[in-house]
Amino acid sequence: MSAAAAVASSTRARIARIETIRIAAQPNVVWVELTDEDGVTGLGETYYIPSAVEAVIHEMAAPLVLGMDASRIEEVRQTLHACASFYGSAGAEQRAFSALDVALWDLLGKRTGLSVATLLGGRVRDEIRVYNTCVDAGGCLDQTGWLERPGELAEELLADGFTGMKVWPWDRFAPQLQSELVTGPAGWSAMGPAGHDLTADALEAGLACVAAIRDRVGTRMDVMIEGHARWDLNAALRICRALEPYEVAWVEDIVQPDSADDLARLARETRVPQCVSERLLSRQRFREVLEAGAAHLVMVDVVWAGGLGEARRIAEAADTFHLPVVPHDCTGPIALAASLQLCAHAPNAKIMEVVRGFQRGWYRDVVTESVELRGGRALIPDAPGLGTELQPDVRARGVVRTSAR
Ligand SMILES: [Mg+2]
Repeated sequence: MSAAAAVASSTRARIARIETIRIAAQPNVVWVELTDEDGVTGLGETYYIPSAVEAVIHEMAAPLVLGMDASRIEEVRQTLHACASFYGSAGAEQRAFSALDVALWDLLGKRTGLSVATLLGGRVRDEIRVYNTCVDAGGCLDQTGWLERPGELAEELLADGFTGMKVWPWDRFAPQLQSELVTGPAGWSAMGPAGHDLTADALEAGLACVAAIRDRVGTRMDVMIEGHARWDLNAALRICRALEPYEVAWVEDIVQPDSADDLARLARETRVPQCVSERLLSRQRFREVLEAGAAHLVMVDVVWAGGLGEARRIAEAADTFHLPVVPHDCTGPIALAASLQLCAHAPNAKIMEVVRGFQRGWYRDVVTESVELRGGRALIPDAPGLGTELQPDVRARGVVRTSAR
């Protein structure tokens, strides 16, 4: 056998089993594990309505992809999209396909002994700066912190190595949903309809959080402003203009990112950098934003926007427009592991989102290798695949559904 044939035969194997795994402790998360005919596995993940994702995987995707060559990742993607797009496919379908795509890259890495970043085209970096999204989790009261004592929290984070922090100072002044399901730990929700009546007092109260951070730590801390799509365009313009003197790193999703033209007004009419958006679920949506000049930074969620293949294309599109990519993770450890592999490969990866409370808390409880944070940077594993796996007992803790040939 020639060397090339030997490599090909070691790379190819049919997809023999697809499993979905859920645990009660994380009701929004679903893992997807693929096993090929030689018993090599690959792990993916996605977040939000996991029962719908499971239905897509077992009822729609499994009959199509079981038996396909697991190394033909692009062919699997095309097969799934060709079928699903017949009916429109931006929600649970795209999340399911994202998880499957990540699992295929992980499997190929495990089969070849190469990291996903190497398979994507090779590494340009071995670590990346991270910022902390300030939620209450894992013993870190970071959301309570920025609400009650933002300057002190900024100082604590600097001492912990972080040089970037994300906060959402205006959500609490937007209309609130009256449901326990969507009420956050601080007693108010990041979800709800857009606000149309931002008062001058509310504008000032939100600004006070950012001012307190600047007063305490100066420009040593990058401040990212999360908007959670809670305001209309007029309110968003007022918030962005008010933020201009504070030199924030970016504002993200201050309006619903469903119109590139409206986002372009934010980019044109204020000088605050606009970050767009984990909510865009395909490269075509990013194309509209990039062509409209509506983004200064491109945020992609690897486990929502189509997986690693699509995220790489989105990162390359951003790079073509001389813009950085800043992957999203506020969801799960495999999303983070996959995003880090993208960051290792994409030359324009700027900074990676993490939640230090998740890192110290539940992420550590479910995967074998946690991401190592050192001096505000994440070290990017160079082990085969994604460089981590589910802990062996996670299956026993959860509910497993299997489709097999
Ligand atoms: Mg966000």
